[in-house]
Amino acid sequence: MSETKNILQDGFGRAHAYLRISLIERCNLRCSYCMPEEGVPLTPKKHLMTPDEIYTIAKTFVDHGVTKIRLTGGEPLMRKDIPLILERLSILPVELSITSNAVIIDKFIKILKLRGVKNINVSLDSLKAEKFKQITRRDQFKKVYDNILLLVKEGFKVKINTVLMKGFNEDEIIDFINLTKRLPVAVRFIEFMPFDGNKWDLSKMVSYQKIMEQVKATFSETTIQRLEDAPNDTAKHYKIKDYQGSFAVISSVTNPFCDSCNRLRLTANGQLKNCLFSATELDLLSTLRAGKSIVPVIEKAVKAKLKTRGGMDTIEKLKEPKLHSKNRSMITIGG
Ligand code: SAM
Ligand code: SF4
Repeated sequence: MSETKNILQDGFGRAHAYLRISLIERCNLRCSYCMPEEGVPLTPKKHLMTPDEIYTIAKTFVDHGVTKIRLTGGEPLMRKDIPLILERLSILPVELSITSNAVIIDKFIKILKLRGVKNINVSLDSLKAEKFKQITRRDQFKKVYDNILLLVKEGFKVKINTVLMKGFNEDEIIDFINLTKRLPVAVRFIEFMPFDGNKWDLSKMVSYQKIMEQVKATFSETTIQRLEDAPNDTAKHYKIKDYQGSFAVISSVTNPFCDSCNRLRLTANGQLKNCLFSATELDLLSTLRAGKSIVPVIEKAVKAKLKTRGGMDTIEKLKEPKLHSKNRSMITIGG
């Protein structure tokens, strides 16, 4: 068991129990903060992990201490073999969850329940159909909104991920919080982060501080309740008294949570990333296909993890396009 713990423990004593697996690079939306307008070059299908390979790699992580797996993408539900992937992974003793844009999730309610998926994160950046279309370059607001209501009705625990951008949706912060009055959902405001091709600029980001200024100007101090954050949580949680849901802020830019990071990321083509912001990747899939053990490769990746944001430890470094443009676009990482 001690060897088990060690390979997923990095040089800063962080144990990694959470694996995010991207299943696909394709998506049925085109969010501007996630992918460049011209799209991204897609990996040929033969270089993407098959359901068996996903299972084998995931099992190795679970054998060494991973207890939580989240499926992401691109849009993970666009994988034709998603039922088989869910079936295989549901055998593992992990909490299995999914992040989706919810455009087609209504077709998967039964299978998600059958495979024990209880937590679903849905991206939604505006409550206005026109703005939704503007940011996602697709006219799917109604579908997504109706599907969020359906997920809640069907008893899933739903978190809504909202990337805030100045001049675009910062005026909807209070509308999103008001949504939690009647819906038991957790809205999570995410600071806009820099990735290749997303035209990031610090001035477009709405900070944790600015979000809380709006909250404090709208709700009285006695109604804003600070909730306890779970260990390794990336968000700071709040609730408005007597509202059914809650809200939180994920401040990866202004207030990174790297000290308690327990996450590793596997891309759809089987590359292991030890940090969302790191451009360095190690190739698990080729190692597996060569018939070799992936354990030493995993260990090497974990031990190489840097302390803060893949080495971009200051806002100045984050602002340096040369540094973050070496990293992939978010659509091929998976969030
Ligand atoms: N398609 C699914 C979805 O949208 O939920 C899963 C993949 S998506 C890449 C995962 C998460 O990454 C989404 O919640 C999205 O909002 C977030 N994301 C993408 N680009 C981002 C950026 N530049 N800054 C912050 N969050 C981002
Ligand atoms: Fe697709 Fe999700 Fe990226 Fe939007 S955030 S383009 S829905 S992968």
